Amino acid sequence: MISDTTTEQEIADRITPDNAVARWTDWRWQTGHAIRDITTFERALGITFPPDEREVLEQTVEQFPLSVTPYYLSLIDRDDYRNDPIFMQCFPSVQELEVEPYDLSDPLAEDRDHPAPCITHRYPDRVLFLVSNVCAMYCRHCTRKRRVGDVDSIPSKEEIEAGLDYIRTHPAIRDVLLSGGDPLMLPDDLLDHILTELDAIDHVEVVRIGTRIPVVLPYRITPGLVSMLSRHQPLWINTHFNHPAEITASSEEALRRLADAGIPLGNQTVLLANVNDCPRLQRTLAHKLVKNRVRPYYLYQCDLSEGLSHFRTSVAKGVEIIENMIGHTSGFCVPTYVIDAPGGGGKIPLTPNYLISWSDHKVVLRNYEGVITTYQEPANYRPIYCEGNCPDCTLQLREENAEEPGQVGIARLLSDLDDTSTLVPENTERMERRTDA
Ligand SMILES: *Cc1c(COP(=O)(O)O)cnc(C)c1O
Ligand code: SF4
Repeated sequence: MISDTTTEQEIADRITPDNAVARWTDWRWQTGHAIRDITTFERALGITFPPDEREVLEQTVEQFPLSVTPYYLSLIDRDDYRNDPIFMQCFPSVQELEVEPYDLSDPLAEDRDHPAPCITHRYPDRVLFLVSNVCAMYCRHCTRKRRVGDVDSIPSKEEIEAGLDYIRTHPAIRDVLLSGGDPLMLPDDLLDHILTELDAIDHVEVVRIGTRIPVVLPYRITPGLVSMLSRHQPLWINTHFNHPAEITASSEEALRRLADAGIPLGNQTVLLANVNDCPRLQRTLAHKLVKNRVRPYYLYQCDLSEGLSHFRTSVAKGVEIIENMIGHTSGFCVPTYVIDAPGGGGKIPLTPNYLISWSDHKVVLRNYEGVITTYQEPANYRPIYCEGNCPDCTLQLREENAEEPGQVGIARLLSDLDDTSTLVPENTERMERRTDA
């Protein structure tokens, strides 16, 4: 693979004196020489921190582990490292120890929606399967910060088997997301085993892998790994690029290998203060991603995990970014901006408003330029009432019946098959006063 900067040479020499740069593109050398303490970080980058800051940094690393691959470290601009987006994502900040009153250790209630080891089951038809607890680089903004890197919670073979059993015995699950930690940190044969077991389950239609490897350790995307993955189609991969500076010749090569193997690629970005909270930067990132055949998927509002307060932006910033993308660039460059609901409600999409007003036959809309326009609704549209009887319906779905697990929430209120007309919060004083409760 490509290895061209002098920084690599310098960093490799500082890490080990034995002409390590010759092994720079060997991912095992990279993980074996990941920088895990402040002193090595200082030495590798050729910088020093003032003693009082250093002391707090040491405490931070005790709470949330530090690990950076020499490759990712080599992307840092040493002359302005404090403002560098790579530095800020991989190096602890003294602010990580500041806990805000509304910070949560498990903001997404993943520990509660947890019916089997390694499984988070929140949506009707898909699960998160947490198969790994290690990452090549520990992101300072990680949601699962309290767990990731903790050797006590590395999933055992038995736990992985129990997770597979849960998926096997729940036929509603058609989509399995391997996550962690980073699933691509598993040995090829273990990952191959998990994917083979999932392939053998009839009701599992697709598998996805969420990984930051193409960003922080692109050399891990070896021809051997890619050919193993390509035997498990349909397999989707979601990467995690946050900044255009992360798209290097090496990461482009890794993406090319995956895309050439026919693996559809998506990207999830976390919106981070002082790292990528800029509409122009987000547009550049999206353009670079699609050039590499990666479809921007989600833009996440930074959540309420402890130690992340310095990374959080206003929600307005996310809406402003989307306002600057829809219409201004290709539709498939625009990610969906989401807030992962605290307490485990799942992802909630947020978009600027395009619907300005509505009468019984006309909608008033605005476009990205500020044009205000109308759409005349059809006078003769015949509403379709669904009785769940597909064989007798004119729409020709020809399914046996329309019994779906999806009759929940607002969709349930809209459904003709369910007479629920109201969703009422429990435990309100008004409900408690009711005598027939
Ligand atoms: C994000 C997430 C998913 C997948 O959501 P999609 O919108 O389908 O990408 C599934 N389960 C959990 C718990 C999640 O957080
Ligand atoms: S790669 Fe993902 S799981 Fe690992 S530290 Fe980064 S955000 Fe967390």
